[in-house]
Amino acid sequence: MKGKTHVGIGTVTFMSIYDKIPGGFSYIGLIVVIIGSLLPDIDHPKSIINRYILPFKNKFAKVAVYICIAVVVLYFDYFYTNEPALKALGLCLICIAISSHRNGLTHSLAGLGLFTLVCGYLDKKYNIPGIEYYFMIGYGTHLLCDMITRRGVPLFYPLINKKYRLPWTYNANSKWGSAFEDLLIILGIIYIIYRFPGIF
Ligand SMILES: [Zn+2]
Repeated sequence: MKGKTHVGIGTVTFMSIYDKIPGGFSYIGLIVVIIGSLLPDIDHPKSIINRYILPFKNKFAKVAVYICIAVVVLYFDYFYTNEPALKALGLCLICIAISSHRNGLTHSLAGLGLFTLVCGYLDKKYNIPGIEYYFMIGYGTHLLCDMITRRGVPLFYPLINKKYRLPWTYNANSKWGSAFEDLLIILGIIYIIYRFPGIF
């Protein structure tokens, strides 16, 4: 599934339930939803987030960059903070470095849990209320949406290495799959325009 489709579905979900989550609507919340909806595909060197992080969009650059960031985070944590969330972040970064697309941690519930732990730390440290909920909306809808594509996701990685998908799936790389995603985005934009006046 394309990055923009994940952003669209994450945003639509947020606009439908923001009044039911702690923190309600906020622009920071919307940005966190968007980041959460793009984050699982950080395991792909050509994904939207990696376009801004990696100097070269290939596997080697992905391994080198994420191992370096993990070393910096773990070094900082070891000498200065001793904070479980930063250890979790270091572990996530190592997993991002070594896993190939849709085969590892970022497309699993374990990845959702570890990154949510990091969000909880940011909430406490920088006082951003509700950041965990915003993040879970974006990240959770990404995993759910990848489950309606034929490739499925390793939901219970690293315990079970099987890929899970819903009973109805489509081929995201086909012409019809692409048209289906474009239709979802158009419907999503219409819904967001309809819901937007309600937040003021
Ligand atoms: Zn994905």
